[in-house]
Amino acid sequence: MRRVEEDEWEIEIGKFFIIKDVDIMEFELDLLRNSYDYLKESLEYYSKIGYDESHDPERENMNLKIKWKTTFLLLVQAIELLLKEKLSRISPILIYDNIDNISINNPKTISYKNSINRLKYLKPKLLKDEDAKFLIKCGDIRNDFVHYKVKLNSIDIKKKYCKLFELYVNLHSKFFNNKYKNYKYRGQILQILEFAKGFEIFRGQEYSKKGLNRVKADLKEGQEMSFMYNDNEFFERIRYGNEKYLLNKLGMNDFYYNKTYKYCGDCLATIGEYHMVECDWELCPKCGDQLITCDCFKGYCSIEYTKENSENKSLTLTNDFAINKE
Ligand SMILES: [Zn+2]
Ligand SMILES: [Zn+2]
Repeated sequence: MRRVEEDEWEIEIGKFFIIKDVDIMEFELDLLRNSYDYLKESLEYYSKIGYDESHDPERENMNLKIKWKTTFLLLVQAIELLLKEKLSRISPILIYDNIDNISINNPKTISYKNSINRLKYLKPKLLKDEDAKFLIKCGDIRNDFVHYKVKLNSIDIKKKYCKLFELYVNLHSKFFNNKYKNYKYRGQILQILEFAKGFEIFRGQEYSKKGLNRVKADLKEGQEMSFMYNDNEFFERIRYGNEKYLLNKLGMNDFYYNKTYKYCGDCLATIGEYHMVECDWELCPKCGDQLITCDCFKGYCSIEYTKENSENKSLTLTNDFAINKE
């Protein structure tokens, strides 16, 4: 019986299946399929480290960060095979280093750098000068990873990775007149292509320009909506970092609030700021439970609103703890 791996490559040249459940399995991957295989492995690594990555030193995980090395290496490997596939389609002889003197027994294939240069001279419209330079630079980084020492900055390597991935997709379209598709890793691919346009780090998290404006606006709104209200009362909200003082006052304890990081793990408010509206992490100033799930209040409001509507209502200021007061 034939069982087919769930990730199939839907490309014009046909579908690629690995047939399992046979006693002996032999396989041969041509250049392009070999390239896809490296790319798939690279995306698998990306899904572990790059997809929801934090650059906050308090939350970073070195064991994960080091995977950037392999993630990047696999992508360079994939693009090297893509270039060789294109050369071989122009003429099969072009994937050999010295085309005038090919050893029959041990033909030496062209190096990564030479394949870039050869393609650039043969098809300047397919491979622009600046792209060729970038590819060579990425190859140098790969060589350092493999043969020399490793120095990694997760933001820098990710920016290069996303740009290189975008180049892979573009070259694939230009070389073969069809788009690279992979449904299994669709989410990662869309994010990488979005990040290839540029991303910024705010409080250790990655944002596209649009996303960054949104998060800043949400944090600003959080600072303006400093009170909670119900039919009878107004309570000032608990600022991030003051949770443990509230719990202490109410005679409660919650392991999660014993340590305060610089930024809220959910909404990125920093110590002393109000959380974003509807942050998961925020505690109710009245009962000490999670604010978004308790029933103490009807909603958020500004201090101006409390002043205008405080007739017959007691304004309760529970959050009079000094920041960092032990
Ligand atoms: Zn928060
Ligand atoms: Zn409550």
